[in-house]
Amino acid sequence: MTATLLDGRKLAETLRATLAARIATLDFRPGLAVVLVGDDPASAVYVRNKDRAATGVGIIPRTIRLPAATKLPELLALVRQLNDDTTVDGILVQLPLPKGLDSQAVIEAIDPAKDVDGLTATNAGLLAGGRPALVPCTPLGTMKLLEHAGVALRGARALVLGRSVLVGKPVAALLTAADATVTIAHSHTRDIAAECRRAEVLIAAVGRPEMVRGDWVAEQAVVIDVGINRLPDGRLVGDVATEEAMRFASAITPVPGGVGPMTIACLLENTLTAALARRAPQTTK
Ligand code: NAP
Repeated sequence: MTATLLDGRKLAETLRATLAARIATLDFRPGLAVVLVGDDPASAVYVRNKDRAATGVGIIPRTIRLPAATKLPELLALVRQLNDDTTVDGILVQLPLPKGLDSQAVIEAIDPAKDVDGLTATNAGLLAGGRPALVPCTPLGTMKLLEHAGVALRGARALVLGRSVLVGKPVAALLTAADATVTIAHSHTRDIAAECRRAEVLIAAVGRPEMVRGDWVAEQAVVIDVGINRLPDGRLVGDVATEEAMRFASAITPVPGGVGPMTIACLLENTLTAALARRAPQTTK
């Protein structure tokens, strides 16, 4: 038996087409500001892709590039300026920031209503409380892949491998909200392989190339591989040994072409969500 590949590229394309159609009906164009500090080549590629994807659906991107030597007060002032700019609906500060810049301070300066990465304490707190507002893009993309694949989450045993603020924790919160029974594993977990083998839904977000071996995967499990790891020979691999895992899983995301494209599509969706929420009439409680 071999697993079905969950095609994130195709689903992202469908999502982008839906977003483009919705945006075409609006009497304004949402704006997305992306702040890139320094000259990390991988970050520059991500930012270029975001810029292109935004334009493709009718969002107006604005990329602001700052030198690596930028000081925190300068960066905070820029974020505040973007908070006040009515043409900007979403603000994303590309991480990681150069050493010496306090990324937490920068994230917290973002207006939660424009926090399309969903990383401010306000949005993280709302998600943890089961009242999601703007949800981090990779976890949102992960849930859309599961939903599209028709995976029944209610009561399912889900294992989230990794507990980062960016991926593991928000994925666990979303799975919990979808009524899965969620376990979070991390670097202190005893016998990770055994934990994985119990999971009907396995989400790997550790940043360790092909750490999850085929025999860690339960028969018929659904595997979402969030990891993106560049090997010394230049190949991109996930956190799961895909070919091995395909012998056991019922469905699995490829790397590349799985979660990655969904992350960018969800950033665009969050920008539209933020744009509409900011323009919605305010209700008083
Ligand atoms: P991160 O912040 O480095 O967190 C990694 C998590 O994995 C931590 O919770 C860590 O545990 C755990 N971990 C590390 N080594 C482990 C081990 N040997 N055994 C068990 N747990 C271990 O990484 P991240 O930002 O969540 O990213 C994870 C992966 O997803 C990376 O490959 C990244 O490139 C990828 N990613 C992909 C996308 C996308 O769009 N597809 C987006 C974001 C990230 P502790 O907490 O105990 O240290």
